[in-house]
Amino acid sequence: MLVASRAHWDYPADFGEFATWFSTDADCLDYLRWLRWPNGFACGVCGESGWLNGDGRHECSSCHLRTSVTAGAIFDRTRTPLTVWFYAAWLFATSKDGISAMALQRQLGLRSHQTAWTMLTKLRTVTVNPGRDLLTGDVEVDETFYGGRTPGQRGGRQYGAKLPVIVAVERRQPRGFGRCRMVIVDRINHATLRQFLVENVAPGSTIHSDGLNSYIRATRGLYTLNAQPAPGVLATVVLPGAHRVASLFKRWMLGTHQGSADWDHLALYLDEFVFRFNRRTSRHRGLCSSA
Ligand SMILES: [Zn+2]
Repeated sequence: MLVASRAHWDYPADFGEFATWFSTDADCLDYLRWLRWPNGFACGVCGESGWLNGDGRHECSSCHLRTSVTAGAIFDRTRTPLTVWFYAAWLFATSKDGISAMALQRQLGLRSHQTAWTMLTKLRTVTVNPGRDLLTGDVEVDETFYGGRTPGQRGGRQYGAKLPVIVAVERRQPRGFGRCRMVIVDRINHATLRQFLVENVAPGSTIHSDGLNSYIRATRGLYTLNAQPAPGVLATVVLPGAHRVASLFKRWMLGTHQGSADWDHLALYLDEFVFRFNRRTSRHRGLCSSA
């Protein structure tokens, strides 16, 4: 059934389809093979075709290299069945606000909380697509701080310390906001701001910032700067989008991950939040899209 409908889908439209397509590990493997080798197996070394061995690995007909379709994937060499992994990925990707480790454990019927937590952590690592498009046009950029001690947890790198985070969001015309980015930096200065901009915002864009002097050097030669010192005007008025994103993130941390806001893994949560924010209007919250 999977093979027959391949040309017409990339991921299931609803849970009914999902459950039908991925009812066994063999279904999941078939899907992964299709994603990786849409035109049939091709050896990663010499490009030749080959055959499927009894152990589930593909063997090249020329150099006889054996390749597992799961090699390098987040679920490679785990003891958790692929059907459980797929269900976890589905829940992770389709739930609007994400899912806590406790809720995932319950949904999947896992005995171990640690397993659910590890799966979620691995899923978060794949929410960032390195080739994703840069923000463009009018972009608000601001700094904010998150973190502090996690109640009930010991250790952590910076007990009680807040971590600086740079927030950027596209302004849409006539109103509204587009995609966002959020990145932790060591400190806020012209160098860290410039690195953030180069990695996240297309040259030629207009940067809207508060009056912080560092933005002058950070944007020089690459961007148009619209800095608004705006004495007496609230920052929420000058940079409404950046403030909205920053406060949505905090609310999401306290909501979805209620009672266990784990600031030690702030970078992973930021990536997941950006992934969800940027797909908030997408009708296809599938398994393979990027932020
Ligand atoms: Zn080969």
